[in-house]
Amino acid sequence: MPELIDSFNRPIEYLRLSVTDRCDLRCNYCMPRDFHDFEDQEHILSFEEIERVVGIFGTLGVKRVRLTGGEPLVRKGLPELAARLSALPGIEDLSLSTNAVRLAKHAEALAQAGISRINVSLDSLRPERFKEITSGKLEKVIDGLMAAKQAGFQPIKLNMVAMRGVNDDEFEDMVDFCLEHNFTLRFIETMPMGDTGRGATDYYLSLQTVKQQLSERYELVPGVMAGGGPAKYMQVADTDLRIGFITPISQHFCETCNRVRLSADGTLYLCLGQDDKLELRPLLRRGVSDDGLREAILGAIARKPEKHEFREKPSQQVRIMSMTGG
Ligand code: SAM
Ligand code: SF4
Repeated sequence: MPELIDSFNRPIEYLRLSVTDRCDLRCNYCMPRDFHDFEDQEHILSFEEIERVVGIFGTLGVKRVRLTGGEPLVRKGLPELAARLSALPGIEDLSLSTNAVRLAKHAEALAQAGISRINVSLDSLRPERFKEITSGKLEKVIDGLMAAKQAGFQPIKLNMVAMRGVNDDEFEDMVDFCLEHNFTLRFIETMPMGDTGRGATDYYLSLQTVKQQLSERYELVPGVMAGGGPAKYMQVADTDLRIGFITPISQHFCETCNRVRLSADGTLYLCLGQDDKLELRPLLRRGVSDDGLREAILGAIARKPEKHEFREKPSQQVRIMSMTGG
């Protein structure tokens, strides 16, 4: 199987695929509350176009694909797309990142369609606070999580963005919730992604502090977790609970970056924090051949930047997360 290797010798074997830039929530670190500046519908790749591009990535050695957005469950027919992608040669692992608002309705169909692993964003277990952060209803997310459990996804990972003065008194509650339901927990540092209007950088909290805080109550031992992501795992001693720490700011992991992102409008972004990209939509709609597509992708991978500069240039990244595909 050919391999995609960038100019820093990093094998690229993971594609994060945004199926929509729309969302039914407005998380304060991600999207401005009154945001409506979405991509024109005719610019959004069709299922056929997505399938074609993912198929080409499969022939280039990409084995793992994660459906994301925006909120992927806002896109109609997502289970159908999932079934098509999981049947593609070379694609061994298809996973989903979701806010779980609509998961109760779709969990079973997604499992049937070949999605094995699921990540759910959850920043608070308190309904009022959840509403303040996301403008949504916690109840729906909890229903979605229970449906996912019922449908047999394994693992189910909860992603909690740690925010100073917002949810920093809830880390232990979240650990207990994950222990109770056999979920994996991951903490994420806020990244300066565009102007969300609510000062994501103001409540940045280093996860080194969170780890310290948790180790006062729990015995944390080094842990491992399959999946090849950037999280560094600890395990709560004498339990199955693994806790991942994703630290793009306090300890970046660019030297092991193995991914690229395809946005809903067909732009291949080579780094979350940089503007380097390849516009695939015009090529697809101009009737490019498979070889032409492969060549364009290889050329783009050779331009993948060495690292993001969130720390050095916090105002550089003007795209909000849902535009790139988080
Ligand atoms: N809507 C889905 C969800 O929330 O899981 C998938 C897309 S969302 C953009 C993917 C992930 O990006 C979520 O875990 C979210 O917490 C994270 N995210 C969004 N904006 C962020 C930011 N500025 N800093 C850190 N994480 C961010
Ligand atoms: Fe929507 Fe996910 Fe962004 Fe929240 S983090 S606004 S759920 S895309």
